[in-house]
Amino acid sequence: MTPTAKTNLLDLDRRAMEAFFQALGHKAFHGRNVLKWIHKHGVTDFDAMTDLPKALRATLREIAEVVVPPVVLEQPAADGTRKWLLELPDGQRIESVLIPDAERTTLCVSSQVGCALDCSFCSTARQGFNRNLAPGEIIAQVWVAWRRSPRPLTNVVLMGMGEPLANFESVVAAMDVMQDDLAYGLSKYRVTISTSGIVPAIRRLRAVSDVSLAVSLHAPDNALRDELVPINRKYPLEELLPACAEYVAGDRRRKVTFEYVMLDGVNDSDAHAKALIRLLEGVPAKMNLIPFNPFPGTGYRTSPPERVEQFRQRLLRSGLMAITRKTRGDDIDAACGQLVGRVRDRSRRQLQRQTVPVVWRPDGQVA
Ligand code: SAH
Repeated sequence: MTPTAKTNLLDLDRRAMEAFFQALGHKAFHGRNVLKWIHKHGVTDFDAMTDLPKALRATLREIAEVVVPPVVLEQPAADGTRKWLLELPDGQRIESVLIPDAERTTLCVSSQVGCALDCSFCSTARQGFNRNLAPGEIIAQVWVAWRRSPRPLTNVVLMGMGEPLANFESVVAAMDVMQDDLAYGLSKYRVTISTSGIVPAIRRLRAVSDVSLAVSLHAPDNALRDELVPINRKYPLEELLPACAEYVAGDRRRKVTFEYVMLDGVNDSDAHAKALIRLLEGVPAKMNLIPFNPFPGTGYRTSPPERVEQFRQRLLRSGLMAITRKTRGDDIDAACGQLVGRVRDRSRRQLQRQTVPVVWRPDGQVA
């Protein structure tokens, strides 16, 4: 990336914005105004921010900027889904997906370029990992979609490329802006973070945020989950589930969403459903069954729709809430697990595949 002396104001949440203006010797409320200009009004040119003193505008021109990565591709799918490809200053590309349905318009955003985890059924994993996104690169996806979506955005899910909790600080800052009344004003029920289950980060998240939590479960026992979601070797189910229960403790209306990709003959039997029911006893849970979206080179097959429905009925009979996620945007490779952007792999995933167990480290790299 070309080094720049300027601060990208898109990186700043309300607190950081106030601190930035105070450090310049100005009042904090100018920071709040700038947040509003950028996110509520879509203004990126300081000269158009007419309630700022002229001298302050001149200073900002010198030391700050608002960098919105350009959209290099906008791809509409037959079902109304839409994919945007954004190009970052270092040439990396990330994808975000707009998913309109009857009552919601949901934006699915990426948190990293590629992903350092190695879930066997996900095509983002195949691309390897390049880097974390800055807060501004995460919120830019919302900024762009807010302005380009044919319908007002109602929900944001951090379910695009990457493991959001491996990019903790940036994701939390971006989610703060999503929830801020001066910006997008989305409630805690309308911002959802999806994680493969990095237990200490789930605990940390609870201390600083109240967004909704989704966890990629995909298997009812450690042996199978070790295979499908290798981070399970580090944070097994007996640690993951208590952390999930704690996340929603104290609010009887809240539940953790558990995502479960339906893989034919792998995790979709009645016995798996039964084990799942036992596993989730005592955890306020709703199940989100995701028909597997195939990609070139995968050895997995999607469970037949009747199997998915039988599995779902089995869960429902036990009193577990369960819905099947509709496959959306698969004709433009925008469905779950199909986002690949354009990633220069720094983890040398191709060499590591199947030879070295993947262990997550706090810097998001693979150990
Ligand atoms: N890393 C985070 C965010 C990814 S969210 C996480 O693991 O939760 C995307 C969701 O789609 C996850 O539940 C992921 O497991 C699931 N997914 C990945 N590949 C898929 C595929 N090929 N078909 C269906 N779902 C998939």
